[in-house]
Amino acid sequence: MLVFILNAGSSSLKYQLMNPENSEVLASGLCERIGIDGRLVHEANDKKIKEEISMPTHKEAIEIVLNCLTNGENKVINNIDEISSIGHRVVHGGEYFSKSVIIDDDVLSKLEKLIPLAPLHNPAHIVGIKICRELMPTKPNVAVFDTAFHQTMPASSYMYAVPYADYKDHGVRKYGFHGTSHYYVSNEASKLLNKENTKVIVCHLGNGSSICAVQDGKSIDTSMGLTPLEGLMMGTRSGDLDPAVISYLMQKKEMSAEQLVNYLNKESGLLGVSGISSDLREIIEASAKGDERAMLSIDMKCNRIKKYICSYAGMLGGVDAICFTAGIGENADIIREKVCSGLEFMGIKLDKEKNINRMDGNREINHDDSRTKIFIIPTNEELVIAKDTYELTKA
Ligand code: ADP
Repeated sequence: MLVFILNAGSSSLKYQLMNPENSEVLASGLCERIGIDGRLVHEANDKKIKEEISMPTHKEAIEIVLNCLTNGENKVINNIDEISSIGHRVVHGGEYFSKSVIIDDDVLSKLEKLIPLAPLHNPAHIVGIKICRELMPTKPNVAVFDTAFHQTMPASSYMYAVPYADYKDHGVRKYGFHGTSHYYVSNEASKLLNKENTKVIVCHLGNGSSICAVQDGKSIDTSMGLTPLEGLMMGTRSGDLDPAVISYLMQKKEMSAEQLVNYLNKESGLLGVSGISSDLREIIEASAKGDERAMLSIDMKCNRIKKYICSYAGMLGGVDAICFTAGIGENADIIREKVCSGLEFMGIKLDKEKNINRMDGNREINHDDSRTKIFIIPTNEELVIAKDTYELTKA
């Protein structure tokens, strides 16, 4: 049983070939600049190849990947019959999907209906699904949604305080994203806590960042909203701001609403404030040299995370564990330290030595007398996609 995992973006696609029964990754890689020129990074058998190769459309890109898997000295399978099913990461499942599903025409038509809510993501996922159906017509395809885990949020969390008709007529509500990661990490945290009823806060801090309050394994609130723009300050996204900033800047900068939302998505956040980069490593470097805007952007990012942690601890009525995951959460000790400092009154006490200890895997970084556990849990969204795909299609 091997699952081909696909994450199709507008000009890129990430993939893995995984055995969900033992979590072994046989191959993984990334196609970039699809429709422009084409670049492939493919890793298998402990070898990494990088190649510039023409990819006019996603179809050629997927054909190239399947060819890498089945041919040449670096092949990992003899032919595509060894792939049992295909798991697709899908960003937006709206209110239609609260769990992963086998893709049929009805599912595809719902994904199409959701395009207005995820105009940058769902069209690319649909293209990826259609090409897999064409190239591997006998294989079942499964959709695993970023939004599904958050469908357990109560209405008091997901509603915006706009006229109710806008929710009913236009689907205006909080959907939340990174659900596959929040599910994986909170589930790992529950295992580490080894108790029945758990209150966990997951901080998924990557380029895109979001926080989730998880009670007894269910998401009860999360920081991203109708789109991934809401919530934390991210690499290039502003996160929360007064919505009136939009009309004000539209006038001042003579931009359309669409241009402004794009500006808040692509030119804001760490990049916009620091003026240096969206990559936290570069900002940390600049801040160590005394760059004031770099320091400001780091402080802003940490304050926002802290605010969400405190508000979610209040909603949960206490917290058993704070979990850090994704590129920043797993690697940036300075961010974890700044976020946790001052939260000792809530029983959150970081062990500074453990925090800077570079180790792999799940680990505990709280002080021995901390009431709340603090975990670093490397996320593994691909494993969730592979397992869901396997479970749904094994029959
Ligand atoms: P995404 O999947 O959302 O694109 P990642 O989860 O890969 O993002 O996280 C990318 C972020 O993680 C970048 O801001 C990067 O600077 C940061 N990051 C990665 N490694 C480190 C590190 N060692 N120290 C600080 N930040 C890091």
